[in-house]
Amino acid sequence: MVKASFNGTEYEFEEGMTILKAARSAGIDIPTLCSDDRIEPAGACRLCLVKISNFAPGERPSCMLEVLEGLEIETHTPELEKAREMNLRMLARSYPREAFEEFPEKRFHAIAREYGLTGEDFASPDGMASADESHPYISVEMSRCIDCFSCVRICDQLEGKFVWQVVARGGATQIVPDSFGAFGDSTCVSCGACADVCPTGALEDRSRIAHGEAESWTRTVCPYCGTGCEMDVGTKSGRIVQIKPSAHAPVNLGHLCVKGRYAHEFVHSGERVTDPMIRENGEWKKVSWDEAVSFVASRMKEIREANGVNSVGVLGSARATNEENYVAQKFARVVLGSNTVDCCARVCHTPTAAAMKMMLGTGAATNSFADIEHTRTFLICGANPSENHPVLGSRIKQAVLRGGANLIVIDPRRTELAAIADIHLALTPGTNIALFNALAHAIIDEGLADEDFISERVEQYEEFRNFLKEYSPEAMAAVCGVEAGSIREAARMYATAKPSMSLHGLGMTEHTQGTESVMDVVNVALLTGNFGMRGAGVNPLRGQNNVQGSAHMGCDPGILTGSIGVAEGAELFSRVWDAPVPSETGLNLLQMIDAAGTGELKALWTIGYDIFLTLANAAETARCLEKLELLVIQDLFFNETAKEYAHVFLPAASSFEKDGTFMNGERRVQRVRKVIEPLGNSRTDWEIVCGVAAKMGFADKFAFESAEDIWNEVRAVWPDAFGITYPRLDVSGLQWNCPTEDHPGTEVLHKDSFAHGRTAKLRRIKYRPTKEIAEPDFPFILSTGRNLFQFNAGTMTMRSGVRAFRPTDTIDVSPGDAEKLGISDGETVRVRSRYGAAELPARISGTVKNGELFASFHDARVFLNRITSPHRDRYVMAPEYKVTAVRIEKIS
Ligand code: SF4
Repeated sequence: MVKASFNGTEYEFEEGMTILKAARSAGIDIPTLCSDDRIEPAGACRLCLVKISNFAPGERPSCMLEVLEGLEIETHTPELEKAREMNLRMLARSYPREAFEEFPEKRFHAIAREYGLTGEDFASPDGMASADESHPYISVEMSRCIDCFSCVRICDQLEGKFVWQVVARGGATQIVPDSFGAFGDSTCVSCGACADVCPTGALEDRSRIAHGEAESWTRTVCPYCGTGCEMDVGTKSGRIVQIKPSAHAPVNLGHLCVKGRYAHEFVHSGERVTDPMIRENGEWKKVSWDEAVSFVASRMKEIREANGVNSVGVLGSARATNEENYVAQKFARVVLGSNTVDCCARVCHTPTAAAMKMMLGTGAATNSFADIEHTRTFLICGANPSENHPVLGSRIKQAVLRGGANLIVIDPRRTELAAIADIHLALTPGTNIALFNALAHAIIDEGLADEDFISERVEQYEEFRNFLKEYSPEAMAAVCGVEAGSIREAARMYATAKPSMSLHGLGMTEHTQGTESVMDVVNVALLTGNFGMRGAGVNPLRGQNNVQGSAHMGCDPGILTGSIGVAEGAELFSRVWDAPVPSETGLNLLQMIDAAGTGELKALWTIGYDIFLTLANAAETARCLEKLELLVIQDLFFNETAKEYAHVFLPAASSFEKDGTFMNGERRVQRVRKVIEPLGNSRTDWEIVCGVAAKMGFADKFAFESAEDIWNEVRAVWPDAFGITYPRLDVSGLQWNCPTEDHPGTEVLHKDSFAHGRTAKLRRIKYRPTKEIAEPDFPFILSTGRNLFQFNAGTMTMRSGVRAFRPTDTIDVSPGDAEKLGISDGETVRVRSRYGAAELPARISGTVKNGELFASFHDARVFLNRITSPHRDRYVMAPEYKVTAVRIEKIS
C-alpha cells in the first residue's frame, strides 16, 4: 500500500494505481473524456490534469501517472479548472452545436456544461452532414469526433479487431473504418464497444438516437451463449430499447458481442405467441390458461395410466433458468414418477459431462474464465470462440496478442484463432482420437510427462503408455492429416509451457467418439499435470446460456440436481420432496425420439427447444414425432416442431421477463432479473409447470411463490450449492462448489484431489473411424456449426436485426473445390447426403480445405439437419453433427 494526499487529505491506495483511479477511489471526481477502465490510458483529452506539488512543476495527466508514496496532489485548483475550461472551449470551436444541444447526456456535452459552455461556444450548425448510416446498429458522425482515440483503442485492446484506423496527423487527423469507406463495409464484428466508449456520440447506437435515453436500467445475464455476460438492459415505456455491457462484470469485463448487445428485438417481435393454443382438427385455437393446463394435465394422466411411466417424456431447456429446469425435472420425477427427462445438453455437451464425471468426478469446467490471463499455453480444440463465445474469444486473443501466451488450435478449419495460432493442427474431421493419442504418445515418448503429478495423482500410467505404442505421431499423421512434426511440436508446447489450458467445443463432442474425445483431452491434461492450478485444466465451452444449468439441475435421466446419481441421491431428494424418487431407468432425448417412433413414448412436453429443426437426420425425427399422441410445445414462438407436430402450445416468457438464475460455462450462478413484465398472456416456464403439476394433484409439492423460493429448494437438495443465496447473488455471481454462506465459491476445481478421490485413471481409447467417409458418390465431408450473428435454431436471432449481417445459412467451399465445381460466391447450391438434401448459398472461403465443407444450421428455410446423419456417440448418443459425407449439386 502507498500513502498519498489529495487536496490536503491523506489516503491509502494499492500500489500500481494511476492517480486518476486513486482519486476516484477516494471519491474525488476528476473529469476525463478519453479514460475508460477497459483500455490503457492515453492522456489524450488533457482534462484529467492534476498538480503534484512535491514531485514536478506543471500540470500532469492523472491517467498516465502512478500514485506514489508521499505525493501531494491537487485536483481542482483555479489554474487546473481554467486549463480544463480552455481545453473544452478549444474542442467546442470545431464541434457541431446541434449535437451539444440535442444530446445533453453525452459525456463531453455534460462536462462542457459543467464548465460553463453554452451552445454559443460551439461551431455553427452545419457540421452534421456527413453521417454514415451503412451499419445496421451504429451511426457514424465524424464531425463530432474529438480525436480522443477511445474507439481505436477499445477496438484494439478489448475486441482485438483493429477496425478503426487513424489517418494523417495533426489538424488533418481522421479516424476511419478499415474499409476506408463505409463503416458497413468494414471488418467490424458489431460488439458496440466503440459506440459505448465514445464520449460525444460520433459513434452512437442507432437505437439510442431513435428512442433517446432509456428510462430505467436493469442488470441481467445475456440470453445467448454459455459465456454468461452480464448486461444492463435499458427500457422505455415497457420496451427494451438498448443494451450495454455491465461495468465490472467478472465474466465479460465490460464487453458484449453482437448478439448480446443488439439481438434483443425478438422479445417484441410481432411473431410472439402470447396466448395458449390447442390444435383441433388441424386448426390452432386460442384457449384460456385454465383450459390449456387442464387439457395437458388430463391427457398426460390418461396416457401415463394407460401406457406406463416411460410413455411420457419431458425436455427441459437450456434457455430457461435453473429454477425452471429444476421444476421441470421434479415434475417428471414426482408427478409422472419417471426419470424420462432430458434437455438439449444431450446433443452437445453431455459427452463432456459424462467423460469428465467418469474421469474426474465432476462433469464441468475445472477452471475459470479469469484464468485466461494466467495461461501460458492455450489448446483450443474443436471450438471457434471468436464466433460462438465471442467475448471469451476476444479475451483469448488479447492473452495471445498482448499477453504473449502460446496458442495451439486443433480444428479442420482456419478459424480466426487458428490464423493467429503458433500451431494449427488442421486435422481431418472425425480423427480427434487419433490426433490426441498421438499427442499423448509424443508427450511420453519425449520425456515430457509430469512424473511427479503422475506418481501422486494418476493411475494406469504403464498400461496407458503400452497402449499408446501404436499411436506414434508418425503412424497417425496419415490418419488425421497432420504432419508428425507438427503434432510433436504441439505436444512439446502444451507439456512444457505451463500452465496449459484446454478449451474444447462441439468439434470434440459431436462425433461417434465424442465422449471418448473428451476423455482424451483429459488424458493429456493428466499426463502433463495441468490440473488444480490457475491457468490450466480442461474447460468445455458451453453453447447455450444455461445448458450447463439445465443438465446440472437434473434434466437428465441419470442424474438429479447437482449432478448426483439417481440412486445416490434418492434418500435426500425423497426427504426434501416428500415423494419417492423413481428408480426405473428413464429415457434420454434420443431414446425418447426413438420410442416415439416405435409407439412406446406417446406424450412429450418440450420447453424452449425446437427438436425437429435441430436434431440430426430430420426425416427420422419427423417420422417419430408425427406418431405422438400429445406433443406440448412451450416457447416464445411457433417453432418448426410446433408448426408441424404440436397439439398444444404454451406461451412462455423470455428471460427478460422473469427472475431466476443461469449457470455459465465456468460453473458460475448469476442472477437473471425481470426487465419487463411477461408479454400478453405469456407466463414464466416455472409457473406453467407448477400449474400443470397442481392440476395433476401435486399443488402442495409445487407451491412455489417465486424463483428464489425454488432456488432455496435447490440449495436443500444440492449441498455443494447451499452457500449460493439470492442475497449473495444480488452482489455478484458465485461459482460452485460453494457449500456454506460464507464460502467464496470455487474458481479452480481438483486442487489437491479429484472430486471422486485423490487419483484419476488414464483411459485407453481406441480410434474407431466414423462410417461417414468420403466416397465417389459423396466426395465431401461436411461439418456444421454456428456463425457469429446467429444462434442455434435461429428462434431469437432470426427475429432480430442481426439477421441483416447473415440473412440465411451458408456453406463454405474452398476456392479449389469451387473452381472444380464451377460454383461462384453466393450461388445457391444443393447439398445432398445419404439422408436428404438442402439448398443454401455457397461462400467461397479459404478457411476450409479442399474436400471439406462447413455450413451453419440456423435457418428453418434451409433446414440443414435434413442432411445430417443418424450416427450417435457410443456412450451418450449425441449425434454426429460434425461429419457427414455429402456431394454438391449445381441447381440449374
Ligand atoms: Fe451473450 Fe455470449 Fe455474446 Fe456474451 S459472448 S454477449 S454471453 S452471446
